[in-house]
Amino acid sequence: MALVGAGPGDPGLITVRGAELLAQADVVIYDYLASPRLLTHAPQAEHVFVGKQASRHSMTQDQINALLIERARQGKRVVRLKGGDPFVFGRGGEEAEALAAAGIRFTVVPGITAAIAGAAYAGIPVTHRDFNSSFTLITGHEKEEAYKDEQSRSRPPGEGSSDLDWSVIAKLPCVAFYMGVKSLPRIAGKLIENGMSASTPAATIQWGTTTRQRTCVATLGTIADAVASAGITAPAITIVGQVVTMREKLNWFETRPLFGQTIVVTRSRDQASELARRLEELGARVMEAPTIEVVPQTNFEKVDAALHSLSLRERAGVRGLASTDATGIGGPPHPNPLPEGEGTWIVFTSANGVRAARERMRALKLDARLFSDSKVAVVGDATARAVRELLCIEPDLIPGRAVAEALADELIARNEVSGRQFILFRAEIARQVLVEKLSAADGIVQDIAVYETRPVAALAPELVDALERREVNWVTFTSSSTLTNFVALLGDSYHQKLAGVKIASIGPVTTDAIRAAGLEPTVIAETADVAVLANAIAAHGTPAS
Ligand code: SAH
Repeated sequence: MALVGAGPGDPGLITVRGAELLAQADVVIYDYLASPRLLTHAPQAEHVFVGKQASRHSMTQDQINALLIERARQGKRVVRLKGGDPFVFGRGGEEAEALAAAGIRFTVVPGITAAIAGAAYAGIPVTHRDFNSSFTLITGHEKEEAYKDEQSRSRPPGEGSSDLDWSVIAKLPCVAFYMGVKSLPRIAGKLIENGMSASTPAATIQWGTTTRQRTCVATLGTIADAVASAGITAPAITIVGQVVTMREKLNWFETRPLFGQTIVVTRSRDQASELARRLEELGARVMEAPTIEVVPQTNFEKVDAALHSLSLRERAGVRGLASTDATGIGGPPHPNPLPEGEGTWIVFTSANGVRAARERMRALKLDARLFSDSKVAVVGDATARAVRELLCIEPDLIPGRAVAEALADELIARNEVSGRQFILFRAEIARQVLVEKLSAADGIVQDIAVYETRPVAALAPELVDALERREVNWVTFTSSSTLTNFVALLGDSYHQKLAGVKIASIGPVTTDAIRAAGLEPTVIAETADVAVLANAIAAHGTPAS
């Protein structure tokens, strides 16, 4: 049982320990402040949403405590994922108490709390030698009943059961208020009443560290009105202090070129995830829209035959090693059992192909030594990465351009085709150009369908909602087939659904398909490269809206 801080919202801000525990969990119990993207660390686990939004409690605290205890008693590895730090407000202390009372052992993994992270992402350091040497966290939403213990009850009260003494707080140089959007007029009023200057800089940060972050800067005297007219609601934190002025110089997050832009990345290939990553780095909120999904191959006959034939050859190679190098250590490289000029090339054109081949190898209890007498060629950086990471093989050939044609041309230019054997581990519906070019140059080609793809049945509901709410600024297309599939998924009214949405195209073939659908790209990448496409979108600038 672990109480894990999910961090403030940016899914990258969870701790290494937190991510490890998620990966081992049987059950993850999370609420609305924990980024749902963190659940991807725990695909194996049961995911239980227990809500908790100011007005919409899906489960009471007692029910949550009971659930934690019940699952832990079933012997499950339970992760209770809580926004920010589990012990900073948000009742993590009470959950731990309930576990302790039930005799359940638990671990606490601290997290980055919203005030510190939200301020940092708004360009506000919470301490600074020129301004303040203390920083205070306060909740704007106090417990209504009296404190449990005598000493806490006897603290000099500000009002009611609260231990907030506004005459003290008004003297503090930097204060962060949690859960205080609704009570902001009261908080600001109390501070001013107790002597804090109405001109003290103040900032309210909503959904800090996420792509939805919004920051409203004003003074203590005006912040409540400014927040109300900006329509900022929970979750938000308010920072009051001179450090807020640092934002003028340090506002790094909200000034990234694509900040505030929602971009749909349609994809059918690995390449598009790379595009998503680049767009996120530029500040965009990315919604991925896979139009094709990978499904495991149903018939492995050809795959297995190819793998076994490589395996036989590898064993022959090992025998060769044993006879020429008795020590096996530090000797010369073992001789290639195949005559010169008859080498085999293994070709991967996608990371999916690498993944599928590896899965099958494992099922057959084969390993990377299978390829020890072969050379490996790959198309694209993502594929090269997969070959390195999943097979521990350094590719012998990665053509400059990430297309099958370039691979064939390069092999032909190196005089590596005639009489050589090629085993292509690819999708069932891969283009034939590679097979044709290699065969035409007298290569012996085996095109092995190691995985299958099929069009997805529907777009993700979040994406449909975002389009309906007109939140989407861009859609990117990196192939003509994704365009066709995406339009089909949108249905007949696709023109209307994409009205006002800008379109980015990777190149001429895709652009033709976009135009054939009666749409017009706003930007077209100068070269067919996802980095070039991402930069072209960023260069287009923030829209007027
Ligand atoms: N344990 C959490 C706080 C839980 S209380 C932590 O350490 O951050 C819930 C309050 O936290 C919200 O009402 C809001 O004031 C603040 N909060 C949480 N996430 C936030 C975010 N991403 N941006 C701004 N405020 C946030």
